[in-house]
Amino acid sequence: MKNLFIFLSLAFFVSCSADDPAEILSSAKWIDLTHDFDTNTVYWPKDEPYRHDTVFYGLTEKGYFYSSFKFSAEEHGGTHFDAPVHFGQGQKFIHQVPVEQLHGPGVVLDVTRQAADNRDYLVSVADFEKWEGAHGKIPHGAIILLNTGFGKYWEDHLKYTGTLKTGEEGVAELHFPGLDPGAARWLVENRNIKAIGLDTPSIDYGQSKDFQTHRILCAAGLTMYENVTNLEQVPATGAYIVALPMKIKGGSGAPLRIVAIVGK
Ligand SMILES: [Zn+2]
Repeated sequence: MKNLFIFLSLAFFVSCSADDPAEILSSAKWIDLTHDFDTNTVYWPKDEPYRHDTVFYGLTEKGYFYSSFKFSAEEHGGTHFDAPVHFGQGQKFIHQVPVEQLHGPGVVLDVTRQAADNRDYLVSVADFEKWEGAHGKIPHGAIILLNTGFGKYWEDHLKYTGTLKTGEEGVAELHFPGLDPGAARWLVENRNIKAIGLDTPSIDYGQSKDFQTHRILCAAGLTMYENVTNLEQVPATGAYIVALPMKIKGGSGAPLRIVAIVGK
C-alpha cells in the first residue's frame, strides 16, 4: 500500500507538478539499472569496442591535482537507448524525443525461468496476458522492463551473448532472449506504452535476422533500452522509471542512465 502511495504521488508530481517533489523523491529508494561503461562493456560483434583514454591524471605544474579523460563509443552498446529512428525512417532522433517520454510507471515482466531453459526465448503475448491477470492492465504511459535473468551474465560475454566471435561470424552465433514481434505488435495496437527495455543486447532476440520487433516498435514511435541490469530488484508494479540518454543531436541511440524509483 505504501508502494502504491509513493507511486501515485510520483505520478501525480510528474504529471501535475503540484506536490512536493523534494519530499517524495528524497524519501524513495533509487535503484540503478545501468552497467558501468568500461573495456568489458558488451558491444555488437561488428562494432568497435568502447574506449576511455587518459588526457591527464596527476599533479599539475602549479601543484594542484587534475584529471580528465576522453571516451569514444558506438551508440548501441552497453546500457543504451534506442531512438525511434533507429529502425524507423522519418521517426525521431534522440534529441527530438520529448522528456515526457523518458519517464513513466514501471511494468516488470519476469521471464527468468523461461529464458533459463531456452536462450532463444521470445517474450510472448501470453506472458503479458499472464502479467495482466496477476497485476491488472498495463497502465497508460508505462515503461515495460523484461527481466530475462541475463543481466547477471554481463561479465561473461559468452554466457551473455552466446559468442566470443566478432564480425559477421559473431552476429550469426548470438543467442539471447528478446521480445516476440507478435507481442510487439500486440503492445503497439492494444496498449499505450512509452518504452520497453530488457537485460540483453537487443530487443530482438539474438537469432533475429530481420529485426522485426525493433521495426514494429520504432514505426510506432516507441523507444527501447538494451543491456539494462538489476531488474530483479524492481517490483512488478509500483516502481517509477526514469531513463535519460545522452542528448546526441541526430543520434539513433545513446548511452543511457536509467533508474527505478520505488517506495522504501
Ligand atoms: Zn540499440
